[in-house]
Amino acid sequence: MGVIEAGIAVVHGRIVEGFRAPFREDAYYDVVLVPGFSDGHAHPQVVDGGLRRGVRWRNSYEWIRGRDMVVDEVMVRRDLSVASKLSYLTMVRALLEGTTLLALTGRLAANVRAWFKLRVRPRLVLLPTVMDRVGWSLGEVVSDYSRVSMLVSDGFARMGVFIHSLGMAGVTTIRESLSLASRGDGIVGLHLGEGVSELEEFKRILGEPPYPVKIIPVHCIDDDVQEVGLQCVSCPTTNIILYGRTRGSLAGISSFGSDWPLLLGTTPKHLKLIRRVFKEPLEVIARTATIGGYKLYEIPYDGDMVAFDGNLEDVMSGYVKPKLVIVNNQIAVYDGALVDPQITVEDVEKRIREAIKEVSEKYGSGAQPLIPPKPEDLI
Ligand SMILES: [Zn+2]
Repeated sequence: MGVIEAGIAVVHGRIVEGFRAPFREDAYYDVVLVPGFSDGHAHPQVVDGGLRRGVRWRNSYEWIRGRDMVVDEVMVRRDLSVASKLSYLTMVRALLEGTTLLALTGRLAANVRAWFKLRVRPRLVLLPTVMDRVGWSLGEVVSDYSRVSMLVSDGFARMGVFIHSLGMAGVTTIRESLSLASRGDGIVGLHLGEGVSELEEFKRILGEPPYPVKIIPVHCIDDDVQEVGLQCVSCPTTNIILYGRTRGSLAGISSFGSDWPLLLGTTPKHLKLIRRVFKEPLEVIARTATIGGYKLYEIPYDGDMVAFDGNLEDVMSGYVKPKLVIVNNQIAVYDGALVDPQITVEDVEKRIREAIKEVSEKYGSGAQPLIPPKPEDLI
């Protein structure tokens, strides 16, 4: 048995100097995060943002109606093999970027299938998307739910439901989704206040707190959800890409989300933008980007750690690739490469580009979806 040491560490959201912990060998790194990064909101099957050059929308409903999709997302979801391949690439990318917890929307069965392909897995919150649209109906989620609930009952992953939004799901769907979520771990996510205030509507449908399930709103550009005792996941990158604005305050925000991990990378790839948007002390950003998501979703973090060579400032700007990633005391990434199979971050980025091309050919017009700008180039 050896010791892992680091000059500086972010331990449970606190910056500390001089870190030591037992490890299988003696090792020294410049920076260690305990636990690793959390991505509180990610759509692992999104390969096309429906973007139009030079166009921005006022809110999510305008975007959904007016977006320019090159790829048929219903077909992508329904094709379990394609959907699980995209999910697998999302998880591999996450681990290689140092993201040890992901809250995934999208197709439940595909996400679970991908997760079981990995030898060392990231921690997951599985929130299959429900809306009153063909391809996203509650009935489809229910059938996936019964198939996988036994598989994820070991506590390593948590299951709930993601109600797309108040405008895309009727009151009956919302009520039934809440009851389905209670069969899992009682977690319900939803897009809220994404360009338009929805808090009054939220209170009209769901009432005042306390709620029978744990509700986690996402985006909250136009609503401070602390008013109903909730905490939000902020996705500043897609807010700026789609609507040209985001909230500059961390009040009521406990975690960050990448929203489109295949197109934009997971949380660390957004840190430079996050730090420019929120202008909070480094420790506050580090806490929200790491343990913030774990605490919000009540996920254990014992044995989760990410180690880097570089300085903390660069790590917290997303400039440095992790050397070592450990989840639940198991090594997922060693010397900068996924352990099994041996994949580097450059490999997975290349595979993602190839997969997007393949999916566009299979379920699209053949044209390539408009690639969004990199988060760090946005502001
Ligand atoms: Zn989303």
